[in-house]
Amino acid sequence: MNPLIRKALNKPYRLSPEELRELLSLEDTEELFRAAYEVKLRHTGKGVSLRGLIELGNYCCKDCYYCGIRKSNFRVGRYRLSEDDVVRMAQWAYEQEYGSVVLQSGELESEKNTVFIERILRRIHTFAGENLGITLCFGEQTEEVYRRWLEAGAHRYLLRIETSSPELYAKLHPANHSFERRKECLRTLKRLGYQTGSGVMCGLPGQTLEDLAHDIIFFREVDLDMIGMGPYLPHHDTPLGQGIELTSEYAAHQLKLGLKMIAVTRLYLHDVNIAATTALQALDDRGREQGLLAGANVIMPNVTDTEYRRSYQLYENKPCLDENSAKCRNCLHWRVLSIGEEINWGKRGDPPHFRKGNSK
Ligand code: SAH
Repeated sequence: MNPLIRKALNKPYRLSPEELRELLSLEDTEELFRAAYEVKLRHTGKGVSLRGLIELGNYCCKDCYYCGIRKSNFRVGRYRLSEDDVVRMAQWAYEQEYGSVVLQSGELESEKNTVFIERILRRIHTFAGENLGITLCFGEQTEEVYRRWLEAGAHRYLLRIETSSPELYAKLHPANHSFERRKECLRTLKRLGYQTGSGVMCGLPGQTLEDLAHDIIFFREVDLDMIGMGPYLPHHDTPLGQGIELTSEYAAHQLKLGLKMIAVTRLYLHDVNIAATTALQALDDRGREQGLLAGANVIMPNVTDTEYRRSYQLYENKPCLDENSAKCRNCLHWRVLSIGEEINWGKRGDPPHFRKGNSK
């Protein structure tokens, strides 16, 4: 066995940045993925937790150079779900025993938006109580807003740092987007008691394997409970996506890198939740299944009504644009069984790292 894999297998946090980089550079990944899967089994058992993803709206005040719903993309039609619609979709996910939902949208900072989310959270709480996990993914907000949403019934928050390199971050965002604020938001979420998730995009233009190795160290420094990361995918109506073609070679490279990041992150952190994200499925029909076999334990099936899915394309090639939520549920069930895993129906699927109160 590769000595680095052996070293990482039994205890978390054993590898140096240089060793993490070396694992990320492996060409033959079979042993790496098998070891990561073994560590996942030890901490979260045989079983995949589901998060029903509701895409609330695509209005956004940010202008990230890679993202299809950036404020300056005038080619995308903007939408926002009604309060009733969001509650109905969450109720459907609850009744279908998804165990948890993720509410995500473009970033908006306003009292109106804060109240809108609060009302939704309170209504979900009336029918689901503590039995439905609720993750929010609404970007950077003030401590006060995070606290209000926590009090209204949310308990998880996902805020990707996108890259832990301040230099690369500066190249991917306009000058008024602050890396420091994003980092501070993560610390605030953790301090307030959220199950806190973050992650990065892998295979960004200008990103090195050293950068990715340091991203994994960063995950530990922030003491994250959940990791959501995925390969970068070009979007033609964005500055970063111009000139990048999604050829089959490019797709294969991005997929492999994304899978290696999952495996190496699992081998380093051990007891966190890691998502096999939709971006993997955009690159390969069985991308998410491969993610599960490389150490991920969470999948986020879309439960947004089909009519809105086309307007929420962060990248090209987004899968399941035309399948309704019931179809997605059925399809996913068989996909998970096909790799010898099972779905933890009706379970919230809290990250073991958080349950242990494993804070530094
Ligand atoms: N506004 C929210 C939600 C952002 S969308 C927030 O700030 O958290 C969720 C994630 O999609 C982003 O964090 C980013 O990592 C990812 N994403 C955006 N554009 C992408 C692209 N072109 N390729 C891959 N992932 C992308």
